[in-house]
Amino acid sequence: MSVLDEHDHLVLDCDGVVYVGADAVPGAAALVAAARARGLGLLFVTNDTTSSAAEVAARIGRCGIDTDEAEVLHAGRAAALHLAHAGAERVLILGTAALADEIGAAGVTAVRTRDAEACDGPWDALVVGQDSELSMRDLKRLVQAWQPGMELLAVNGDRNYPASDGLHVGCGAIAAAVAFAVDVEFVVAGEPSPILFAEAAERLGPGRTAMVGDTLASDVAGANAAGWTSVWLRRPGAADDPAVVADLTVTDLRDLLG
Ligand SMILES: [Mg+2]
Repeated sequence: MSVLDEHDHLVLDCDGVVYVGADAVPGAAALVAAARARGLGLLFVTNDTTSSAAEVAARIGRCGIDTDEAEVLHAGRAAALHLAHAGAERVLILGTAALADEIGAAGVTAVRTRDAEACDGPWDALVVGQDSELSMRDLKRLVQAWQPGMELLAVNGDRNYPASDGLHVGCGAIAAAVAFAVDVEFVVAGEPSPILFAEAAERLGPGRTAMVGDTLASDVAGANAAGWTSVWLRRPGAADDPAVVADLTVTDLRDLLG
């Protein structure tokens, strides 16, 4: 008996479950094939804020999994839909052109901090994404644009993320700098935020959902809060967290094939 037999939808975290860097995770393609053979709905989710959904789909494709952007939900899209649902018309963002395009596609005008010279407010919200070319000028523009009551939205809450040359400063850490400067709490759109999980649930439709993730604090915590079956793909050396317990723990995706 496989966990696939007891569910209508399968949600896979991308980084660490489908791919690690440029490499496919062993068993990911077989798991997706088995889910499709059983007729499950599929959704790939990621906190990535620098790639478009189409680019994420292409990366999944290079792992031997046939998919398209309709099956991809990333934190940038979750942020965009949240802003649109909230009625935002014009937002100032610290982030990539890809994020600005994503927000624009949801019907919200997104002006990047680096392009904001000639674009005065008012703004409906401020948005912080990942930007490897971040400067003090970008931070200053967000701080100066903030008004009491305005939402400060972080595309994800990651403190940092690993890269080939070591840890990089995460989106959450950048948002925290702005939040501290203006003395406000920031809201997170990506995993484990209910913003992303609610959008995922809406896309999948009714039914029982299982989610496989490699990070307790984002994937498993989000899945548990959404009422889904959480499956933790435990990496070697990964520590338990008594506050976040998965319904099922495996060390190899092939263990889910039954
Ligand atoms: Mg992951």
